[in-house]
Amino acid sequence: MDLFEYQARDLFAKHGVPVLAGEVIDTPEAARAVTERLGGRSVVKAQVKVGGRGKAGGVKLASSPDDAVEKAGQILGMDIKGHTVHKVMLAETAPDIAEEYYVSYLLDRTNRTFLAMASVEGGMDIEEVAATKPEALAKIPIDANDGVSQEKAAEIVAAAKFPAEVADQVADILVTLWKTFIAEDALLIEVNPLAKLADGRVIALDGKVSLDENADFRQPDHEALEDKAAANPLEAAAKAKNLNYVKLDGEVGIIGNGAGLVMSTLDVVAYAGEGHSGVKPANFLDIGGGASAEVMANGLEIILGDPDVKSVFVNVFGGITACDEVANGIVQALELLKNKGEAVTKPLVVRLDGNNAELGRKILSDANHPLVQRVDTMDGAADKAAELAAAAK
Ligand code: GDP
Ligand code: MN
Repeated sequence: MDLFEYQARDLFAKHGVPVLAGEVIDTPEAARAVTERLGGRSVVKAQVKVGGRGKAGGVKLASSPDDAVEKAGQILGMDIKGHTVHKVMLAETAPDIAEEYYVSYLLDRTNRTFLAMASVEGGMDIEEVAATKPEALAKIPIDANDGVSQEKAAEIVAAAKFPAEVADQVADILVTLWKTFIAEDALLIEVNPLAKLADGRVIALDGKVSLDENADFRQPDHEALEDKAAANPLEAAAKAKNLNYVKLDGEVGIIGNGAGLVMSTLDVVAYAGEGHSGVKPANFLDIGGGASAEVMANGLEIILGDPDVKSVFVNVFGGITACDEVANGIVQALELLKNKGEAVTKPLVVRLDGNNAELGRKILSDANHPLVQRVDTMDGAADKAAELAAAAK
């Protein structure tokens, strides 16, 4: 989960990383009182989860409370790389910035380690520095067990050639940022710029943080950081029902048991779709091993609730949960939905294979639901589902 800058700023403040005062607002008028509290001037910053706000005009200096209202009005509602600005953060204006540095920690999956990156050429274009002057971006692996001690921090500071007068401050910040990284179960913490102000202080002026959702069970505070407004409503409903669901932008709804099978189903449907006016999978939905009628009903309800879906492909390979149980689940799910007043109106193509496939197929044939078709091969079923989706498009 990626955080907004203001949330990163709050986390930094909580763990003792030096930041400037800031408050988040969502109407221009609110900028007046906040700017008065901040001493009559403020930096108005768009809160969107994408970099390059500065260059896009999403960071503006306001010289008075009135000016802050005007600048907030310009930035709120702005589109930055496809992200609409719903909130702005007003920050205390930094005394003049003397230098802009870059520091980050991230999980380096390829090398199975953590990685520290640091550069004295921070500011707006670290990607360009990395591409054109790789020697200016120091990369130091961090052992998960050792973490970042004062010695390790000094090593990073030396590798990135921080000036002597800021070396101690930067090293302390690196140690504190590492503590933050561990305490919050982060996957990424990036500070750009880490600014040296005219008065000599080093301050985190912009922060990017990504948290590891696998650690949510031991991070009760993280739930409040979720951007509920931005979440896809179907994804949220699926999450509440413990279903593994990802919305995609095609027309064929997909339900399968097991992530591997669902992934190959996506491929097969995408391939079949090429022969049927380019229809594509509408989602990823793994109902897992024990597909009870209720789980199947929940899955169908989510997928049928997506107006983009024109047909549904249920692809099940019976294992511990045998095909007859799955078939009964489908029949009962259709019944359940009908009783809830959500009768199925879109065609379903069901392919059952594996443990007790024959029995499962017989149950579906006997139920004889007008919208359910049985196709016994995966390719054949994918083709049928694509054909039906194309016809309804
Ligand atoms: P980004 O472009 O999305 O990374 O947004 P940043 O928060 O990094 O802001 C971009 C640039 O705006 C920074 O590199 C700074 O030069 C400048 N900036 C950000 N905050 C302040 C501030 O408080 N005071 C001043 N004077 N400049 C700031
Ligand atoms: Mn930045």
